[in-house]
Amino acid sequence: MSMPTIAIVGRPNVGKSTIFNRIAGDRISIVEDTPGVTRDRIYAHGEWLGNTFSMIDTGGIDMGDEPFLKQITQQAEVAIDEADVIVFVVSVREGITDADDKVAQILYRADKPVVLAVNKADNPELRQDIYDFYSLGFGDPYPISGAHGLGLGDLLDAVIKAFPDKEGEVDDDSIRFSLIGRPNVGKSSLVNALLGEDRVIVSEIAGTTRDAIDTKFVADGTEFTMVDTAGIRKRGKVYENTERYSVMRAMKAIDNSDVVLFVLNAEEGIREQDKRVAGYAHEAGRGIIIVVNKWDTLKKNNQTLHDFEVHVREEFQYLAYAPMVFVSAKTHQRLNELPAMIKTVASNHAKRIKSSTLNEVIMDAIAMNPTPNDNGRRLRVYYATQVAIQPPTFVLFVNDPDLMHFSYERYIENQIREHFDFSGTPVHLIERHRK
Ligand code: GDP
Ligand code: GDP
Repeated sequence: MSMPTIAIVGRPNVGKSTIFNRIAGDRISIVEDTPGVTRDRIYAHGEWLGNTFSMIDTGGIDMGDEPFLKQITQQAEVAIDEADVIVFVVSVREGITDADDKVAQILYRADKPVVLAVNKADNPELRQDIYDFYSLGFGDPYPISGAHGLGLGDLLDAVIKAFPDKEGEVDDDSIRFSLIGRPNVGKSSLVNALLGEDRVIVSEIAGTTRDAIDTKFVADGTEFTMVDTAGIRKRGKVYENTERYSVMRAMKAIDNSDVVLFVLNAEEGIREQDKRVAGYAHEAGRGIIIVVNKWDTLKKNNQTLHDFEVHVREEFQYLAYAPMVFVSAKTHQRLNELPAMIKTVASNHAKRIKSSTLNEVIMDAIAMNPTPNDNGRRLRVYYATQVAIQPPTFVLFVNDPDLMHFSYERYIENQIREHFDFSGTPVHLIERHRK
């Protein structure tokens, strides 16, 4: 279930972000001739020969005003903490610099595989020049050119070979969920409250390093795995307080969850920062529950809850399917409802509808509200079938996918939701042409 993670590390200007973009497949971060430029994205998925992985551009974790050497030290530490495999990037044009040595020394201490990429090897002569880099002590250097997309295949072959073995990993049936939200909304308080005395904690899974951050517990007779508990609880290292690091961490946790508890702070209301991770969870197709915490802090009348809900719904229109719950980690108000809610959402997220039942619902929907037509050509829906779960994904076979309008698709989705309980989960509809 969990995806292996690659971290790209190296001193500024060696080409980390260029390589990251190449592998991610589109230009999602800005590359300029100045070192330390702002990057849009530092976390993305990649794929090579059927292996999917997540990838962190540690160069984009801005350590604020820290001195140069401290910054690269911290970026290397992020790589060690977060990655299954580290890609250490150096540049053939500049050779080995003091800063490269510094990074290397930190990586020696890591118990993680390191693959050495010698970037800017844009032509065959430069590709011959890589032998000096053996002295760094990370085995074979892989000559690449991020700018021209050369050598990346061999590099990724080596990276994938270094991924941890899946074999030792136990596949269990527990429901995996994570808590996400900006700092101070009360995530760690909720974790502590949820893991309170009356829950049996099965284990802080210690098997592989990657899993050491998850906590298993049993509530209402169901096994849950809280993803990245450690990441929520621990505070200390400088970079853990930077926004980009926590956003990256949240994205990683979302990738490894079935259900995401998106935590808001009733006391402070909604901030811009709340929207980024919520949008990612939605796009990633996870089950989502909106948890409004610190409900104890508001002076309430019989309108307060309704008004707050309306406000959240307006701000997060794309999360219309997500149930909302108003809780307090402090007084434990309604916390006992969470396990059952998570369970319901996880089950909706994995729900399968029989084709016969589905087609009845869709044909009835079409009979009630005829399909759109465009210049006399009418959309025809022949057949529908569910092709995937997590999230539930339906294919509609139609005469011409272009005839489907956004509003009609929304109507079909609503009809599906009216007949089957898909609360908490996005539902994907795909139109396919069939003669
Ligand atoms: P980062 O600071 O390590 O993330 O480096 P960037 O990706 O921002 O790249 C730094 C500079 O090196 C930019 O001007 C890039 O265009 C350039 N660069 C990156 N990869 C290559 C490459 O393969 N060949 C050459 N010649 N230049 C590159
Ligand atoms: P995190 O950064 O999201 O993990 O937030 P914390 O769990 O560290 O909580 C931030 C602050 O909010 C702490 O001072 C908590 O004691 C406080 N807090 C958390 N939950 C509640 C709550 O439900 N009610 C009140 N009044 N305070 C809370």
